[in-house]
Amino acid sequence: MPEEMKPESVLLHDLDSAAETDMLCIFGTGDLGRSLGLRLLQSGYRVVYGSRRPHSCGPLPPGAQVMNHVAAARSSSLIFICVHREHYGFLETLAPHLEEKVLVDLSNNLKKDVYPEANATYLQRLVPKATVVKGFNTLSAWALQNGLLAGKQVFLCGNSAEAKRAAADVATKLGLTVLDKGSLSAAREIEDFPLRLFPEWRLPLCVAVGLTAFFFFYLLIRDVIYAYVEQEKDISYRIMISLANKVFPIVSLIMLSLCYLPGVIAAFLQLYRGTKYKRFPDWLDRWMLCRKQMGLVALGFAFLHAIYTFVIPIRYSVRHKLISRVVDEMKENKTTPFYFDNTEAWGTDSFYVLGITGFFLYVLLALTSLPSVGGSLSWREFTFIQSKLGHLTLFICTAHGYVYGWNKFLKLSTYKWYTPPGYMLCLIVPSVVLVLKLLLLLPCVDRTLTRIRQGWERNQSKETVGDNKATNL
Ligand code: NAP
Repeated sequence: MPEEMKPESVLLHDLDSAAETDMLCIFGTGDLGRSLGLRLLQSGYRVVYGSRRPHSCGPLPPGAQVMNHVAAARSSSLIFICVHREHYGFLETLAPHLEEKVLVDLSNNLKKDVYPEANATYLQRLVPKATVVKGFNTLSAWALQNGLLAGKQVFLCGNSAEAKRAAADVATKLGLTVLDKGSLSAAREIEDFPLRLFPEWRLPLCVAVGLTAFFFFYLLIRDVIYAYVEQEKDISYRIMISLANKVFPIVSLIMLSLCYLPGVIAAFLQLYRGTKYKRFPDWLDRWMLCRKQMGLVALGFAFLHAIYTFVIPIRYSVRHKLISRVVDEMKENKTTPFYFDNTEAWGTDSFYVLGITGFFLYVLLALTSLPSVGGSLSWREFTFIQSKLGHLTLFICTAHGYVYGWNKFLKLSTYKWYTPPGYMLCLIVPSVVLVLKLLLLLPCVDRTLTRIRQGWERNQSKETVGDNKATNL
């Protein structure tokens, strides 16, 4: 060990003649620094920590060295900055020792837009002669500690391709997938990633809440309030199960059709424009990007519908109604309960079969949307399941709704206060989607659409090529 290193470093492992390339430096011995160091050591790197208190910084991964910042910076050309941005001031004083080093900024903020500039840009300003790369900040100390890195994506950005390559090499060796986001100006976007709160789920959840609220109050008025006002009956107990079990399938079916509606709209838009080389409107793009989440929320409602349906026979009100009906019939010596209506039997059986099949296909669609399952399918298999099977699911679930109301649609009593029942309203959107899809399947329309999607429109200017974000509908 060199003599001059003694007062400023604690050696937990012999440095020997370590090649600078596999020696990595970490500033900060906190949660992230320690977890990252452990993972780097396990990947075959040698790790040296730069700390304010090299002699009392707490337990570090075995095999790592710890020194003061200046000495640690000397031993590696790549330094991971695992320190909060608020403490970056000390790096400015270290600037002469950090010249030509690659500084990987891992910092995050607790809120968006707290500072006027990104942490990495600030760091670059403090140490102008070093090269700053933003990245690894989307990993958590917990994931690093537990080795949950395989397949995880890290974003990198920086103004030097060489520096990014050096950071990317480390990431790849850790088993991470690297996504280059370009220059350091992308740092703010990368810093905001950990602060995102289900962005793709926002629209589907808003739609679900909106539909649930609307149909809940609509059915409350039509069923419970109507019975109270017109028949002087208090059936408010039905809110808990009967009413809820009407709202769930309605929301589920509408949301399922909303998964397929944007695809159909996009196809008609392409037909109308005669080209695929034109951007879809932003609202359509956003809608298409959250179809998976829309479908999963729809499946959630379908699940609730299935569970609620199972409890129907054990409900007190249902058992009471059945028993009192039988008792009444026996008292009056009638045989009505024993009369068997063949059409009714066919109707109810078809209704249940369609419901069960629809639910099964629903689950199948959800399973193939899982990255691990979807990733193992070929493009054609995935498209077949999500598009063909998806539309079949929508058809079967819609048919489930039609069969439910087949003998009620024409009855006047169905239209309480001149309003259509919920199950009738919920059939509108899926029926429109299915009719539009059927039109798209007409041979002449299908042929034109296929030619458009194969880039048939050749006389478009070149710069519009690539604008289209979603050609795979
Ligand atoms: P931490 O546990 O509080 O550790 C921060 C380290 O910074 C301390 O251990 C200390 O190391 C050093 N430090 C503290 N005050 C300092 C000062 N005034 N001057 C110089 N160094 C100082 O924090 P952390 O959880 O490791 O997070 C570090 C950075 O990584 C933060 O910017 C955070 O946003 C980011 N990050 C954290 C995670 C995570 O899961 N924890 C995930 C992604 C990103 P010494 O005592 O050895 O000097």
